[in-house]
Amino acid sequence: MGSLPFSYCFSSFILFASINLLLAADNITQEVSIQDGETLISSAQRFELGFFSPGNSTKRYLGIWYKKSPETIVWVANRNNPILDSSGVLTISENGNLVLLSKAKNIVWSSNISVKVENTVARLLDTGNFVLMDASENYRWQSFDYPSDIQLPGMKLGWNLKTGLERYLTSWKTADDPSSGDFTFRFNINYLLPELVIYRGSTKIARSGPWNGVYFGGIPTNPNLIFEMILVHNEAEFSYWYQPFNDPLVMLVKLTQSGMKQWQIWNERSNKWDLVYSAPEDVCGNYGHCGANSVCSINKTPICECLNGFESNSKFNQTSSQGCVRRLPLDCEEGDGFIKVDNVKVPDLVDVSLNESMSLKECEAKCLSNCSCKAYTDFNATGDGSGCLMWFGDLIDIRKLVENKGTQDFYLRVPASELKTNSSNGTSMDTEDKKNKGNRKLLWMIVTPILSLAVVTLGFLIHHVRRKHRRKGEDLLLFDMHLGQKSGLELTEEKKLGKNCGNEVKLPLFSFASVCAATDNFLATNKLGEGGFGTVYKGTLLKGDQIAVKRLSRRSGQGWEELKNEAMLIAKLQHKNLVRLLGCCIEQDEKILIYEYMPNKSLDFFLFDSSKRKLLDWKTRIRIIEGIAQGLLYLHEFSTMRIIHRDLKVSNILLDRDMNPKISDFGIARIFRENELQANTRRIVGTYGYMSPEYALEGIFSTKSDVFSFGVLLLEIVSGKKSTGFYQNESPNLLGYAWNMWTSDKGSELLDPELEDQSSMILLLRYVNVGLLCVQESAKDRPSMTEVVSMLMNQAAILPSPKQPAFSYVRNSRSVNSYSSKSEKCTVNNVTLTILEAR
Ligand code: AMP
Repeated sequence: MGSLPFSYCFSSFILFASINLLLAADNITQEVSIQDGETLISSAQRFELGFFSPGNSTKRYLGIWYKKSPETIVWVANRNNPILDSSGVLTISENGNLVLLSKAKNIVWSSNISVKVENTVARLLDTGNFVLMDASENYRWQSFDYPSDIQLPGMKLGWNLKTGLERYLTSWKTADDPSSGDFTFRFNINYLLPELVIYRGSTKIARSGPWNGVYFGGIPTNPNLIFEMILVHNEAEFSYWYQPFNDPLVMLVKLTQSGMKQWQIWNERSNKWDLVYSAPEDVCGNYGHCGANSVCSINKTPICECLNGFESNSKFNQTSSQGCVRRLPLDCEEGDGFIKVDNVKVPDLVDVSLNESMSLKECEAKCLSNCSCKAYTDFNATGDGSGCLMWFGDLIDIRKLVENKGTQDFYLRVPASELKTNSSNGTSMDTEDKKNKGNRKLLWMIVTPILSLAVVTLGFLIHHVRRKHRRKGEDLLLFDMHLGQKSGLELTEEKKLGKNCGNEVKLPLFSFASVCAATDNFLATNKLGEGGFGTVYKGTLLKGDQIAVKRLSRRSGQGWEELKNEAMLIAKLQHKNLVRLLGCCIEQDEKILIYEYMPNKSLDFFLFDSSKRKLLDWKTRIRIIEGIAQGLLYLHEFSTMRIIHRDLKVSNILLDRDMNPKISDFGIARIFRENELQANTRRIVGTYGYMSPEYALEGIFSTKSDVFSFGVLLLEIVSGKKSTGFYQNESPNLLGYAWNMWTSDKGSELLDPELEDQSSMILLLRYVNVGLLCVQESAKDRPSMTEVVSMLMNQAAILPSPKQPAFSYVRNSRSVNSYSSKSEKCTVNNVTLTILEAR
């Protein structure tokens, strides 16, 4: 550099500085415009505005995109009027309007403010909003008022009550064409009860259910506690917007070209958008899927059920998906009554009236006195329990909701005669036609004696079979599924026959013979591993597909409860990070569960083997940690029931072909009822080194005891060291060692030295931080899995500092790690402690 002439250096500096200035520009004025090829960048480099051609199109559009994801176009100015060449220029006209011009200086698009404003400036903000400001920095126009197909955080959808402007999303036509597609996503404010609705043209496709002060009924407003929704209702506007709890979180809500509304979060590590929730989420989310006067319950078969007092509209279709009609007419004179239909998304607000000030009692009287009133509920948009909403026509788009959040009850009008016969859940299975009532009586007179005889015979047979097989008395079907096939199981046949493993779960039941055939009579070389309650073998199906077969140890005499528990639970769960159960086999003394086969067995096979450990590079470890966190979050928050796993450990993390993790072994998992936050057990079962102090010592378990195990697991994965049996310098175990390293600023020494690539060091140190937070002594100091996921996904979020974790004190006689034997039964505080040995 010293040899270059000064003038050269100086002009290079000027050039460099001006390029930087150009790149950094976030605004245009009447003097400075941008043309195709140039862009504006928001001050914190989050958004960029410029010209683009979507997909394979050559047409040019002016739009805004995420700087870190240029293909994510969040707003398009001239979506219905593309420029056909690269002559586009964005400028500010003399009357202060933003205008987009093409070659022939035609105005392609304009902000169209009607009054002349002097000295306007248009600036791209870090929110993604492109604003046109006057000299006093008042917004005269903003892109957020004219959304495309994406709602960004802070962007309001709904109504400006002063100007009548409605802000809503409109889908793109195709990926190559941003012009207005078929679908819109709107914030409806009929009867001042706001709800979110997706339309195709003017037809409703899906609706959230009305806002009840906290939630939009039906659709969780906060699918994973990552953001909150805010409703604004004042003189000027009626709208809603959302905001992530952690501000740097990059997220969006998109209306896709097929009419799905999707919540997406930017994953910094994979550099792609993760889909966290979409609506409609299933067929019951499709507007009016079951037709009028019926309820859609996604967990039932058939999913459509008539409301009480109604029967299927279709003679041919008994599933009531065509809607339902009244079995008996209402009799306003003789006195109708009401049945409560609870935990539902209430019927659509078609043909309704709302009185905000009435109480529930007054509402009932009002509905009763009006012969056209079909149903009522206490409802208003503040959710304070007052208000009277009455329906007059057919009741459409009712959905049964499992979670209590955002659900509503309503009261259905039925004739007095139905009141006596109906239960309070508000639905009835379709029954025979009223006209056939007389015939039915006759039929019953003939059928009853035959039926009684059949029952007696069947009873005798069952008794005989039970005695023969000396089974333990569970109400399970026994059926030979082998069907003459010699070499293995045939799953499709099983399903066709519809036999299942128990009363509560619908799982295919396999014959013992077919399981033997699939596993070569439990050949020792097919053994995959040994768990607490039995051995796991590899099996091969007729078509060559592989399965894993868990055979309960016959000698132990234990474990049947655990096996059944596992079958019941896991059959109801579906998540890519939970192992899938394919069926079971119960025959004589054999109790067997059949799972999807995980070719890479369990994580311990890799993590604690010095040669295999190298195969777990950082990227894989991060994927494994994230997957486990997602699986556990699902169990705690998003499955139909809240589940505490209670035995999370490395050997219960199975790995698929691509080393994606799946949580397994639900033998001691427990379901929590709604609102149940913790439970206490006298029978503590868990694994040495993974149990939280409150569980190990007092039998108290909660989601936070799973979080503790997750923390131990996380520290094991990043360090490649077992939580127990690890002693170094004054540290009683891995938790103590991790704490010592952390407090002496040597956190990086904790990371597995086997791995040469240290590029992810900063990220992994975050993981150690999260791991230490999860293993805090007090459950209340540990984060929830929602918070854990948020901390792992969002690198920018500031993490709290951990305090000294549990079991990390050298002289702590109360600690579980101070027990002398690793596999033992003992009594602490009057509870039985069964500690399994970790592998
Ligand atoms: P468990 O009884 O579930 O703890 O399983 C004992 C061991 O068997 C595990 O640690 C795995 O190594 C192996 N294993 C269990 N399930 C499977 C599966 N679905 N695929 C492959 N290996 C499995």
